[in-house]
Amino acid sequence: MVRAIVGANWGDEGKGKITDMLAEQSDIIVRFQGGSNAGHTIINDYGKFALHLLPSGVFYNHTTSVIGNGVALNIPYLFNEIKSLEDRGVPTPKILVSDRAQILMPYHVDFDTYEEERLGGKAFGSTKSGIAPFYSDKYAKIGFQVSELFMDEADLREKVERVVEYKNVLLKNLYNKEPMNPDDIFNLLMEYKEMVAPYVADVSLFLHNALKEGKTVLLEGQLGSLKDPDHGIYPMVTSSSTLASYGAIGAGIPAREIQDVVTVVKAYSSAVGAGAFVSEIFGDEAQELRVRGGDGGEFGATTGRPRRMGWFDAVATRYGCRMQGATEVALTVLDVLGYLDEIPMCVGYEIDGEVIKDFPVTYKLEKAKPVFKKFKGWKCDIRGIKNYDELPAECKAYIEAIEEEIGVPITMVSNGPKRHDIIYRTSDLSK
Ligand code: GDP
Repeated sequence: MVRAIVGANWGDEGKGKITDMLAEQSDIIVRFQGGSNAGHTIINDYGKFALHLLPSGVFYNHTTSVIGNGVALNIPYLFNEIKSLEDRGVPTPKILVSDRAQILMPYHVDFDTYEEERLGGKAFGSTKSGIAPFYSDKYAKIGFQVSELFMDEADLREKVERVVEYKNVLLKNLYNKEPMNPDDIFNLLMEYKEMVAPYVADVSLFLHNALKEGKTVLLEGQLGSLKDPDHGIYPMVTSSSTLASYGAIGAGIPAREIQDVVTVVKAYSSAVGAGAFVSEIFGDEAQELRVRGGDGGEFGATTGRPRRMGWFDAVATRYGCRMQGATEVALTVLDVLGYLDEIPMCVGYEIDGEVIKDFPVTYKLEKAKPVFKKFKGWKCDIRGIKNYDELPAECKAYIEAIEEEIGVPITMVSNGPKRHDIIYRTSDLSK
């Protein structure tokens, strides 16, 4: 069976922890989109890790970690990540890289940086990991697929020349930078070939066979629904689909195989980058939540930059769950809210004097003002609680109000950053 683990919000919902946890009972974990631009933070018996490219299941001996064809593959980054695990005593994980994944090149990072510079005040707030130029090239058909490293060298060289010629026009005329040398790019690709060769596989065939044998596959998403290029807050989105449906394409399996969509929802809101964020809070109120949030504060796992903070947004989350096709929800970082006397929840958007409950397109979203409803805080530390019934009544009321707003069963409540800080409700996931 295939289970997707995806985010309903703007990312940083705690998908890494949930994946790490559910990987314990799974055979294969697949990254299906995105690249090293976002990170998962995982705390387990080996210590605290920030993973960017490797799936969160790499800490188990029994799992295979797969980089699917939908990922932006930064080869040196992958290598450093594998090495950093080995250096800290994690047993060498079994890793497969799809022969249909495309390679994120250093010039993608350069172009990302140059474009953000050129846009100045209108920049997207990119992490400058090269993701937008990478996916642009993929769809413009001037990217390099891993399989192409293994084709006839003369053909590869010819393609490199064609791509570099095109890139150099932009470098010179748009960005006023030094041109690239096709020989350097070709030689770099040859280095990458050597680095990646031991891991390359026909991933869709591997998954097809695994599913026939009854194996359990997890698809691990990056970011969340609201950063999806089609269904998110375009253009302040990422460049690959963050939705579970895309998991089928980005892993190379039929859509009908995805039976369970565990959608991770955060008990408050955080976002990085520019774009409308209706329930956003500012000043001391935001700083207090930021410092107390996540595990050691809400600061980007890749960039270290402070995240934007807000209260739980039921309008955005209901939409986020709907677009994911959520079958169940894991509600995370609930423990963080234990300091509040009152907890506001955004339950509607007021746009031009009208209150709406359905998430709108971006230009309308920018005009939206939050309609808040207040809930009584529980004023205690809920970490360590294992049974739902032991949670304070106010805490249960908050969870159940979220459940009612989003219309999806909350089967897991995460009450701390560690693997076993989890309260199972109605699901059979705990078995
Ligand atoms: P991801 O990208 O969705 O995996 O999320 P991140 O890893 O960026 O952010 C989640 C952060 O919250 C990490 O620092 C986690 O260790 C932490 N975290 C996850 N679940 C919980 C939780 O239930 N409580 C607390 N306090 N922290 C959590």
